[in-house]
Amino acid sequence: MQLVFATNNLNKLKEVQSLIPDHFKLLSLKDIGCFEDVPETQLTIEGNAIQKAEYIKEQYGFDCFADDTGLEVESLNKEPGVFSARYAGEQRDANDNMNKLLQNLEGKPNRSAQFKTVIALHLNNKLETFTGICKGEITETKQGNEGFGYDPIFKAKGYTKTFAEISLEEKNKIGHRGKAVKQLVLFLNELR
Ligand code: IMP
Repeated sequence: MQLVFATNNLNKLKEVQSLIPDHFKLLSLKDIGCFEDVPETQLTIEGNAIQKAEYIKEQYGFDCFADDTGLEVESLNKEPGVFSARYAGEQRDANDNMNKLLQNLEGKPNRSAQFKTVIALHLNNKLETFTGICKGEITETKQGNEGFGYDPIFKAKGYTKTFAEISLEEKNKIGHRGKAVKQLVLFLNELR
Protein backbone atom coordinates (compact mmCIF):
# COMPACT_ATOMS: atom_id res chain seq x y z
CA MET A 1 0.00 0.00 0.00
CA GLN A 2 1.34 3.43 -0.91
CA LEU A 3 1.50 6.05 1.79
CA VAL A 4 2.90 9.55 1.39
CA PHE A 5 5.10 11.04 4.10
CA ALA A 6 4.63 14.78 3.54
CA THR A 7 8.31 15.66 3.69
CA ASN A 8 11.25 16.22 1.39
CA ASN A 9 13.70 15.45 4.16
CA LEU A 10 15.30 12.22 2.89
CA ASN A 11 16.79 11.43 6.30
CA LYS A 12 13.38 11.50 7.94
CA LEU A 13 11.93 9.43 5.10
CA LYS A 14 14.62 6.73 5.33
CA GLU A 15 14.39 6.57 9.09
CA VAL A 16 10.62 6.15 9.09
CA GLN A 17 10.60 3.69 6.15
CA SER A 18 12.88 1.40 8.16
CA LEU A 19 10.38 1.40 11.03
CA ILE A 20 7.02 0.90 9.34
CA PRO A 21 5.62 -2.45 8.11
CA ASP A 22 7.01 -3.62 4.73
CA HIS A 23 3.66 -3.60 2.96
CA PHE A 24 3.55 0.21 3.27
CA LYS A 25 5.68 1.80 0.56
CA LEU A 26 6.53 5.33 1.60
CA LEU A 27 6.53 8.10 -1.00
CA SER A 28 7.99 11.58 -0.53
CA LEU A 29 6.41 14.81 -1.79
CA LYS A 30 8.84 14.75 -4.71
CA ASP A 31 7.70 11.20 -5.59
CA ILE A 32 4.12 12.43 -6.10
CA GLY A 33 5.16 15.53 -8.07
CA CYS A 34 4.50 17.97 -5.25
CA PHE A 35 7.07 20.76 -5.52
CA GLU A 36 5.03 23.53 -3.91
CA ASP A 37 5.24 24.68 -0.29
CA VAL A 38 2.57 22.71 1.54
CA PRO A 39 0.59 25.23 3.63
CA GLU A 40 1.37 25.38 7.37
CA THR A 41 -0.72 28.33 8.48
CA GLN A 42 -2.38 27.01 11.63
CA LEU A 43 -1.70 28.33 15.12
CA THR A 44 -0.99 24.96 16.73
CA ILE A 45 1.49 22.15 16.06
CA GLU A 46 -1.36 19.67 15.80
CA GLY A 47 -3.28 22.00 13.46
CA ASN A 48 -0.30 22.26 11.10
CA ALA A 49 0.25 18.49 10.97
CA ILE A 50 -3.44 17.94 10.18
CA GLN A 51 -3.46 20.74 7.59
CA LYS A 52 -0.52 19.22 5.72
CA ALA A 53 -1.95 15.67 5.70
CA GLU A 54 -5.38 16.89 4.57
CA TYR A 55 -3.90 19.12 1.86
CA ILE A 56 -2.02 16.21 0.28
CA LYS A 57 -5.11 13.99 0.37
CA GLU A 58 -7.30 16.70 -1.17
CA GLN A 59 -4.87 17.99 -3.80
CA TYR A 60 -3.04 14.80 -4.76
CA GLY A 61 -5.42 12.01 -3.70
CA PHE A 62 -2.90 10.01 -1.67
CA ASP A 63 -3.25 8.64 1.84
CA CYS A 64 -0.67 10.52 3.79
CA PHE A 65 0.93 11.39 7.09
CA ALA A 66 2.64 14.64 8.06
CA ASP A 67 4.60 15.75 11.11
CA ASP A 68 5.07 19.05 12.82
CA THR A 69 7.37 19.80 15.75
CA GLY A 70 7.82 22.66 18.15
CA LEU A 71 9.74 23.58 21.30
CA GLU A 72 7.51 24.76 24.14
CA VAL A 73 9.18 26.77 26.90
CA GLU A 74 7.21 26.99 30.14
CA SER A 75 8.18 30.48 31.30
CA LEU A 76 7.63 31.91 27.79
CA ASN A 77 4.00 30.77 27.62
CA LYS A 78 4.95 27.76 25.46
CA GLU A 79 6.84 29.89 22.93
CA PRO A 80 8.31 29.40 20.34
CA GLY A 81 5.93 26.43 19.86
CA VAL A 82 4.40 26.37 16.40
CA PHE A 83 6.76 29.21 15.39
CA SER A 84 9.94 27.28 16.30
CA ALA A 85 11.40 27.23 12.77
CA ARG A 86 10.99 30.99 12.22
CA TYR A 87 11.27 32.26 15.81
CA ALA A 88 13.94 34.83 14.95
CA GLY A 89 12.66 35.54 11.43
CA GLU A 90 11.87 34.12 8.02
CA GLN A 91 15.54 33.20 7.43
CA ARG A 92 14.79 30.16 9.66
CA ASP A 93 18.30 30.18 11.07
CA ALA A 94 18.95 27.79 13.96
CA ASN A 95 21.64 29.98 15.56
CA ASP A 96 19.48 33.10 15.40
CA ASN A 97 16.58 31.13 16.92
CA MET A 98 18.73 29.80 19.79
CA ASN A 99 20.21 33.24 20.49
CA LYS A 100 16.76 34.79 20.68
CA LEU A 101 15.54 32.06 23.02
CA LEU A 102 18.57 32.36 25.34
CA GLN A 103 18.10 36.11 25.41
CA ASN A 104 14.40 35.86 26.23
CA LEU A 105 15.18 33.46 29.07
CA GLU A 106 17.83 35.69 30.66
CA GLY A 107 17.01 36.20 34.35
CA LYS A 108 14.19 33.64 34.33
CA PRO A 109 14.84 30.85 36.86
CA ASN A 110 12.36 28.40 35.30
CA ARG A 111 14.01 26.93 32.18
CA SER A 112 11.68 23.93 31.80
CA ALA A 113 10.77 23.09 28.21
CA GLN A 114 9.47 20.28 26.06
CA PHE A 115 9.71 19.24 22.44
CA LYS A 116 6.41 18.16 20.95
CA THR A 117 5.88 16.29 17.69
CA VAL A 118 2.45 15.60 16.26
CA ILE A 119 1.98 13.19 13.37
CA ALA A 120 -1.35 13.39 11.55
CA LEU A 121 -2.32 10.35 9.47
CA HIS A 122 -5.00 10.52 6.78
CA LEU A 123 -5.76 6.90 5.93
CA ASN A 124 -8.88 5.26 4.49
CA ASN A 125 -10.79 8.54 4.91
CA LYS A 126 -10.05 8.69 8.62
CA LEU A 127 -7.77 11.04 10.50
CA GLU A 128 -5.60 9.93 13.42
CA THR A 129 -3.01 11.91 15.38
CA PHE A 130 -0.02 10.67 17.39
CA THR A 131 1.86 12.89 19.84
CA GLY A 132 5.39 12.47 21.15
CA ILE A 133 6.71 14.64 23.98
CA CYS A 134 10.21 14.95 25.39
CA LYS A 135 10.52 16.98 28.60
CA GLY A 136 13.68 18.76 29.64
CA GLU A 137 15.23 22.17 30.10
CA ILE A 138 17.01 24.94 28.20
CA THR A 139 20.71 25.25 29.04
CA GLU A 140 22.45 28.57 29.72
CA THR A 141 24.81 28.16 26.74
CA LYS A 142 25.06 26.14 23.50
CA GLN A 143 26.74 22.77 23.94
CA GLY A 144 27.63 20.16 21.30
CA ASN A 145 27.71 19.85 17.51
CA GLU A 146 25.37 16.95 16.73
CA GLY A 147 21.74 17.19 15.65
CA PHE A 148 20.02 20.32 14.38
CA GLY A 149 17.70 23.17 15.35
CA TYR A 150 17.56 23.77 19.10
CA ASP A 151 19.52 20.61 20.00
CA PRO A 152 22.58 22.47 21.42
CA ILE A 153 20.46 24.19 24.09
CA PHE A 154 18.06 21.35 25.04
CA LYS A 155 18.82 18.82 27.75
CA ALA A 156 16.31 15.98 28.21
CA LYS A 157 15.15 15.26 31.77
CA GLY A 158 17.69 13.13 33.65
CA TYR A 159 20.47 13.89 31.14
CA THR A 160 23.61 15.94 31.78
CA LYS A 161 24.28 16.33 28.05
CA THR A 162 22.33 18.30 25.44
CA PHE A 163 20.68 16.67 22.40
CA ALA A 164 23.68 17.97 20.41
CA GLU A 165 26.06 15.95 22.59
CA ILE A 166 24.35 12.54 22.39
CA SER A 167 24.13 10.09 19.47
CA LEU A 168 21.23 10.14 17.03
CA GLU A 169 20.36 6.61 18.16
CA GLU A 170 20.05 7.75 21.76
CA LYS A 171 18.09 10.86 20.78
CA ASN A 172 15.63 8.75 18.77
CA LYS A 173 15.08 6.48 21.76
CA ILE A 174 14.06 9.26 24.14
CA GLY A 175 13.12 12.00 21.67
CA HIS A 176 9.76 13.50 20.72
CA ARG A 177 9.81 12.44 17.04
CA GLY A 178 10.84 8.88 17.85
CA LYS A 179 7.99 8.54 20.34
CA ALA A 180 5.40 9.83 17.86
CA VAL A 181 6.72 7.55 15.09
CA LYS A 182 6.55 4.55 17.44
CA GLN A 183 2.83 5.19 17.99
CA LEU A 184 2.25 5.53 14.25
CA VAL A 185 4.04 2.23 13.66
CA LEU A 186 1.97 0.45 16.35
CA PHE A 187 -1.20 1.76 14.71
CA LEU A 188 -0.16 0.68 11.21
CA ASN A 189 0.91 -2.76 12.48
CA GLU A 190 -2.53 -3.31 14.00
CA LEU A 191 -4.16 -2.77 10.59
CA ARG A 192 -2.62 -5.98 9.29
P1 IMP B 1 9.72 20.52 11.82
O1 IMP B 1 8.27 20.54 12.15
O2 IMP B 1 10.33 19.15 11.99
O3 IMP B 1 10.05 21.17 10.54
O4 IMP B 1 10.43 21.40 12.97
C1 IMP B 1 10.16 22.78 13.16
C2 IMP B 1 11.35 23.44 13.86
O5 IMP B 1 11.48 22.91 15.18
C3 IMP B 1 12.68 23.16 13.18
O6 IMP B 1 13.02 24.11 12.25
C4 IMP B 1 13.65 23.18 14.34
O7 IMP B 1 14.02 24.50 14.59
C5 IMP B 1 12.83 22.69 15.49
N1 IMP B 1 13.04 21.23 15.71
C6 IMP B 1 12.24 20.23 15.27
N2 IMP B 1 12.70 19.04 15.67
C7 IMP B 1 13.82 19.31 16.39
C8 IMP B 1 14.75 18.48 17.07
O8 IMP B 1 14.65 17.24 17.10
N3 IMP B 1 15.76 19.12 17.70
C9 IMP B 1 15.92 20.47 17.68
N4 IMP B 1 15.10 21.28 17.06
C10 IMP B 1 14.04 20.71 16.42
